[in-house]
Parts: sequence; structure tokens; C-alpha cells
Amino acid sequence: MENCTSAKKSVVIIGAGICGLACARELSKFEETIDLSVLEASDRIGGRIRSVVTQDGVSLELGAHYIHGTVGNPVFDFAVEKGIVGEAEDPLDWNSPQIFRCFDKELETSAQIKQKATEKATTFRETMMERLVEGQDAEAKHFNNVGEFWESKINTFKSSQPIEEVNALECVFNNLAIEECSYNGCERLEQLDLQTFVVYDELPGNRSFKPVTGYSKVIEALNDELENDVVKLQHRVCNVVKNMRNRYEVVCENGARFEADIVVVTVSVNVLKSILQNENFFKPPLPVQKTKALEKIKLSNVVKIYFKFKDPFPKKETNLMLFCPTGGTMRESAFGWIHEIERIGDSNWWMLWVVGELIETLKKSDSIQTFLLDVLRNIKNQYPEFPQQVKIDTNNVLTYDWASDPYYQGGYSYFETGGRIEEIVPILRKHVIHGDEGQNQCRLIISGEITHQQFYSTTHAGFTAGIRDGKEIAKIFNI
Ligand SMILES: Cc1cc2nc3c(=O)[nH]c(=O)nc-3n(C[C@H](O)[C@H](O)[C@H](O)COP(=O)(O)OP(=O)(O)OC[C@H]3O[C@@H](n4cnc5c(N)ncnc54)[C@H](O)[C@@H]3O)c2cc1C
Repeated sequence: MENCTSAKKSVVIIGAGICGLACARELSKFEETIDLSVLEASDRIGGRIRSVVTQDGVSLELGAHYIHGTVGNPVFDFAVEKGIVGEAEDPLDWNSPQIFRCFDKELETSAQIKQKATEKATTFRETMMERLVEGQDAEAKHFNNVGEFWESKINTFKSSQPIEEVNALECVFNNLAIEECSYNGCERLEQLDLQTFVVYDELPGNRSFKPVTGYSKVIEALNDELENDVVKLQHRVCNVVKNMRNRYEVVCENGARFEADIVVVTVSVNVLKSILQNENFFKPPLPVQKTKALEKIKLSNVVKIYFKFKDPFPKKETNLMLFCPTGGTMRESAFGWIHEIERIGDSNWWMLWVVGELIETLKKSDSIQTFLLDVLRNIKNQYPEFPQQVKIDTNNVLTYDWASDPYYQGGYSYFETGGRIEEIVPILRKHVIHGDEGQNQCRLIISGEITHQQFYSTTHAGFTAGIRDGKEIAKIFNI
């Protein structure tokens, strides 16, 4: 047993993702007073942040991709401070040739109408969302999910538009709806709780800023600030048991044991759900309200697939190809759920978001390569404006299945319809305390991205939650 024999307090953090590391960094300021261990199940730090570099030197993100909002974002500020990223670039100009929208072949209309529909639909969506988030939409209270709200608003808008533009508008709105699903990690917007969606705080600045040197550099910079022996890899925690002295004994699968006054749990929501189903994991078990509170939090199944085209992409200036299906296409085939491919920097690598019904098709495919070839065939068939001659290099394909990895069991979180974040998060965050005040007490804290009420599902949620809980622990220890 790694026991702290001195008057030092002991803290064990479960998980070395961005939250666990940020919490450890905060607590490492008190190394004289606190014995600190971060126990990580896998053989790497970073959790759902994982950058890899291809043989041809391109940095790809298997997990988190963007820093969402560069103004007031602590992850962005930290990355700037550490020299990992430069000044925030301007956001993509939606009317520049960097973005190309392909329209469904079923849509018979002119290029001018497509252009007009694109401008109108994107402006309408932006205004609709701004008004919703700022609480200016009086009708919003009549809806409990994002999908029905969108549909009602968009139908009213379409009915006021010239008849010859309506079909093109529908195609653009379909693309925007799938994009919103991929951002939120849900399969349909009807799954998203509207009130919780409104509470999410979108930070200003560039909304999709990419750290080109690799997101993992943020993780490395955090880890560099910790003493060498703080993070212990391949230490999968399997039991957290309160002992007679009101301290926790934290037991790992590899046999290592740690004693702690405070345990901080930073695992993903699905890992937490499975832990709570195991009666032996926490002894005594956690209050059942916590298990109940987790029911309405879901973890996305969204998959990112990176691939390379055999030859340089013919549209050299384009970084983002968007696909606008008709409603019919979306219903008839899962391939109607293809909504974008995005170039990685100025390389020949691209990324496909797999979302909605397309995920089922991916699961049923013999291989990622077969799936990608089917996707490309469908894109070419459905969207005549897409360069028809391009071919995928099937030797250069990369993906990561977060949902099948037992240490994550999914991607990023969202609150299902009926799941009110302002009710759920306080229940999760309430510390579990054993022992009477004034005597030896031990406590358990649930942390991680899901415990941040405004930023849930992002890296800055994990980062901020870790710092917040580190500060709370210092206060508890009176240091
Ligand atoms: C595909 C994908 C794309 C994303 N895109 C973005 C994006 O563009 N922008 C953004 O801001 N966010 C994005 N996110 C979300 C973001 O990555 C997460 O919200 C954030 O990294 C979560 O950090 P965390 O520390 O709370 O949890 P995690 O990173 O999940 O860390 C928890 C750690 O606990 C470990 N663990 C699990 N079980 C145990 C155990 N029993 N014992 C010990 N350790 C254990 C895990 O191995 C893991 O390292 C994305 C996520 C995914 C998967």
C-alpha cells in the first residue's frame, strides 16, 4: 500500500485526461502538504485528446479536434502561454472558395438559387440560434427538444420564401441539421434537450480553432508541470473502499493500492455509469441519486475517419466540402447522412464525420476501406458537383472507435431530452463525505467534462472542472 505516513493529506485522481491533469497541476502547488497520485488505466496520458502524426508528417486528431471559441477559453489561453498556438486565425469565411457546397442531384435549380438559398439558410440559422441562446425567442418555451424547435422555425421561414427557392433551402437546412448533430454528438436533434442546449455557453472568437501542432501538446505541457512520479500509467482502478480510519483505499487491477483522503473521479460518463452498476467498485456504494442523475446524460457515437486521396484534390483552394441532401435522400439511404469532408491543413488528408444512420452502415461494413469506398461512390453519384475523378488511397486510412474502448465507451456528452443540466450537475458534484466534521473525513468528488454546466462536452469543460475541483480541495484542506 502506498501510504502517506506523514501529516500530509493524500489525493488520488482517477484518470489522466485533461481534467485529471489540470486538477493535479492545481494541487501540485501544494506538494509540501499533499501527496498526489493520478491513476490512469491506459498506457498514455490525454484521454479523449489524442494526436497522431502520419508517416508523411501530418498531425491528425483522433479525439478532440477544435478549441471551441478562442476568447475567454482557458485551454486556448494555456496553449498561447505555452507557445503551442499562435494568435487565433480568423474564422472561416463561409462565402470564400475554401468552402464548397455540393447539392443533391435531385435538386433541379440554378446556381444563383443555390447561392441565394445558402446565404439565406445560413443567416437564418445563425439568427435563430442567437435569439434562442439569448432567451429572445418567446416560442422556445413550447418545445422540449432541439429538433422540434428547429423544424417549426424552419418550416415557418420556408413558407415565407419564394416557391422556387424552397427545395434548395431544404437541402441547405438538411446539411446544417446533420452538422449540428455531429457537433452535439447525437443521432437526431430530437434527442437534444432544448433547455440544456440553451445553457451551453458558446465562447466567442474563432469557434473552430485547430491547434495545428497537435492537441496533445496541451496535454504534454500540463504533464510537464507535474513531478515525474505523479501520473501512474496502466493503473486501472477497480475498487474504492472506505476503511475503518475513514480513508479510501484505492485498488488497481495490477495490485497497486493507494490510501487517500480525497478521491477525484474524472472518467467519462459511460465509464462512470458502468462503474456505478458494479456494486463492488465503491464501498460503500455512491448515493443512488447520482446513478439516477446520470440516466439522461448520453455519450456520442460519432466517428471520425481520416483518409488520403490518391492525387492532389482538384479543388485546390477548398478545405471543406459540404453535402446538401434532399429530405428524400436522407430518408432513403444512410448515405444521405454524409454532410462534410474536411481537409487537414493544406495536406492531401481529409476527415469524414460519420453521424446519424451512417454509423449503423459503418458498423455493418466489412472494413473501414470498404465503407469509405462506398461513401465516395455515393458522394459522386449523389452530388454531380463533386470532382468525379478523385480516388481514395486505401493504404492511408485512420480512425479510432472511442465507443468500443472500455476506458471511454463513447465520445462526448450531450443531455437527452428531459435531462436538465442545472438539476443533474449539482447532484453529480455534491461531494460524498464519510466521517464526522472535526474528525478524520474522506470524500469522493465526481469531476470531468460532464460536471461543467456551461461548457460540458469540451476540452475546456474538462480543464476548468479540474482546476475548480483542485481549488476546492485546497480549501477543504485549509491550504
Ligand atoms: C472524437 C471526439 C472528438 C471531440 N472533439 C472535440 C473538440 O473538437 N473540441 C473539444 O473541446 N472537445 C472535443 N471532444 C471532447 C473532449 O475530448 C472531452 O470532453 C475531454 O477531453 C474530456 O476530458 P476528461 O478529462 O473529462 O475525460 P477523459 O479524457 O475521458 O479522461 C478520463 C481518463 O480516465 C481514464 N480511465 C477510465 N477508466 C479508468 C479507471 N477505471 N481507472 C483509471 N483511469 C481510468 C481514461 O483512460 C481517460 O484517460 C471530442 C471527443 C471525442 C472522443
